Amino acid sequence: MELVKENIKKLKEYKTNKVSYRIKLDANEGKNLLFPDIQKEGISFLEGFNINLYPDNDSFLLRSEIGKYLNINPNNIIPGNGSSEMIELVMKTFIDKGDIILSFVPTFSMYSIFSQIYSGRFIGIKSNEDFSTNMDTLIKKAKEVNPKVIFLCNPNNPTGYLTNKDEIKRLLDNTDSIIVVDEAYMEFAEGSMVDEVLKYKNLIVLRTLSKALGLASIRLGYMVSNQDIIDIINKVKSPYNLNAISQYIGIKALKNREKILAYIEEVKKERSYLYDNLTKFPIKPYESNGNFIFFKSNVTGLAKKLEKEGILIRSFSGDLEGYYRVTVGSRWENEQFIKSLKEIFKNEES
Ligand code: PMP
Repeated sequence: MELVKENIKKLKEYKTNKVSYRIKLDANEGKNLLFPDIQKEGISFLEGFNINLYPDNDSFLLRSEIGKYLNINPNNIIPGNGSSEMIELVMKTFIDKGDIILSFVPTFSMYSIFSQIYSGRFIGIKSNEDFSTNMDTLIKKAKEVNPKVIFLCNPNNPTGYLTNKDEIKRLLDNTDSIIVVDEAYMEFAEGSMVDEVLKYKNLIVLRTLSKALGLASIRLGYMVSNQDIIDIINKVKSPYNLNAISQYIGIKALKNREKILAYIEEVKKERSYLYDNLTKFPIKPYESNGNFIFFKSNVTGLAKKLEKEGILIRSFSGDLEGYYRVTVGSRWENEQFIKSLKEIFKNEES
């Protein structure tokens, strides 16, 4: 008897870069900004947190803190194990075998991977030559194929392209599909759809603490949606999906609004610095609204060459061969990256 699902056999494992490095700019992680203070204070469990008991199943205190952070009602929030869990929850809840999932491509790879795991059919709509996207094409395709779910990564990973709110509203007005707006990088841009969730019956917004809050290791993300969708997703969510320590750290971290905002400003400044410097090379960088920059280079094996200098960036293959994504680091990290690029390009010329 064949035990493994056909779709799973075809799947490739999600592999991470396991090499040693000096500077890590390959996974869009934020700086270790908030944890040192929490560590200094020490973890003293608040009332309701007991390590021998299961954690709060619906993360009540954390939801109120997220509610304050976004100025929304905590009842419209479900937190979980990274926004990755939220993407999976959407698939689990809405995708039956053969259902269609639509998205622009290139985009975050987990939308198509989870589609495959849940036996859905992922259809990617090609972005324009400059990696901008055309909403009319998406609306037209949605009318044609009737997708259950449409994913919009905004700002988009890896291209950095930002779809404006009016365009997303136009999509919402033209389809009944579930529209998931993945705002993992929205803190670095403007145009969140979080305020709009109560106005639509089919809108889900995903956010994470892995980027602007620099807490990728605690695996904490959340979804925001209307009450009907929240109630349905809560039926599907695993019990106690978010451990008590992550809930605790999340609550403490989200209180640091000033620090978070200052860091966002730093990233935006460094993003301009990095972009300006990249234009000085025979490289084509794309303007980004995230904490990373996508670029094209004709140097073969550029990421491997940087890796030899201890610097990790993300490289792509297939249709995106020759394209790279570098996370915006601190000024020192960005300088080191630029310095290594200079060396590499000098060697290419000689
Ligand atoms: N969405 C996007 C667009 C991402 O880039 C990432 C992380 N690379 C995630 C979701 C997942 O983030 P996490 O699970 O850490 O919240």
